[in-house]
Amino acid sequence: MANTVVKISNLVKNYGTLTAVDHLDLEIKEGEIYGLLGPNGSGKTTTISCLLSLLSYDEGEIEIFGKKMSSTAYDIKKDIGVVLQNVAVFEQLNVYQNIDCFCSLYVKDKKKRQELVWEAIKFVGLEDFVKFYPKKLSGGLLRRLNIACGIVHKPKLIFFDEPTVAVDPQSRNNILDGILRLRDEGCTIIYTSHYMEEVEQICSRISIIDKGRKVAEGTKEQLKQLVHTTETILIEVEGLTNEGLQEIKSQGFVTGTEFDEHTLKIYCHSDGHCLLPVLNILEKHNVKTGGAYTKLPTLNDVFLEITGKELRDKEA
Ligand code: ADP
Ligand code: MG
Repeated sequence: MANTVVKISNLVKNYGTLTAVDHLDLEIKEGEIYGLLGPNGSGKTTTISCLLSLLSYDEGEIEIFGKKMSSTAYDIKKDIGVVLQNVAVFEQLNVYQNIDCFCSLYVKDKKKRQELVWEAIKFVGLEDFVKFYPKKLSGGLLRRLNIACGIVHKPKLIFFDEPTVAVDPQSRNNILDGILRLRDEGCTIIYTSHYMEEVEQICSRISIIDKGRKVAEGTKEQLKQLVHTTETILIEVEGLTNEGLQEIKSQGFVTGTEFDEHTLKIYCHSDGHCLLPVLNILEKHNVKTGGAYTKLPTLNDVFLEITGKELRDKEA
């Protein structure tokens, strides 16, 4: 069993009358990419700020690397890297100087620092921009610089708070690939996002957060098992008789149907795939079928089923 790297017990953080983190428990193991998935305002950044002792909290305990975390726990902090949601770099320093400046907080030896800075530059793919000032960088490149500054000292535990918001697809892939490479090198990663696709793509385990509370936790496969509708089938049909429809409805895996003239919608709950048995029944009843479409659950469906609302508003 891997070591526990981060342990949060019963964390509560209030802003006045608003409870931003509500009795949260988390345990994160070495080598994980642990996802905190929740809509805007669900308390992800507040949780991270408490974890890092950047913010005081009302109740609870936080241990990192098996030791109590505090604002003066420098022996813990030296092994932590932080990539905050709001980019934090110095406008008056160029790319190289920015990364070197962050590195100098941890590493005094100049030669060693030069090696580390170049490694970080290559890691995020900023070789062609070392002399650029932040103002001249695109949003995506600025994010990459922010990441280089956070990881240059080779931390064992790294926090990424929504690192891909408003980033072009190329930088987004670069960032996600980079996080996987850091994991392969042995880092433990805590990753927050409101993009379920990203969390599914890279996280080993996920907590779904709503209003500061953990509403579900597990691998993406485990989370999807929480959803009652495991598959939704849409088929264009012609000549569907009542008998045919009744036979479909009588299948054990069918939990509901909707039928309007040409489109048959079937909600299923099953361990396996349901499309083929449905098509077989339709064929038996001489029903002509056109396009068939099957939708498997997403983490949004998990969130919807637990909280009754969408993970994020439809983006404009
Ligand atoms: P997330 O990172 O998931 O978007 P946050 O942790 O930023 O969520 O915010 C959680 C809740 O706390 C939100 O309702 C937000 O408006 C509120 N909040 C965040 N920071 C402050 C603050 N400094 N003062 C008062 N309320 C805050
Ligand atoms: Mg946030």
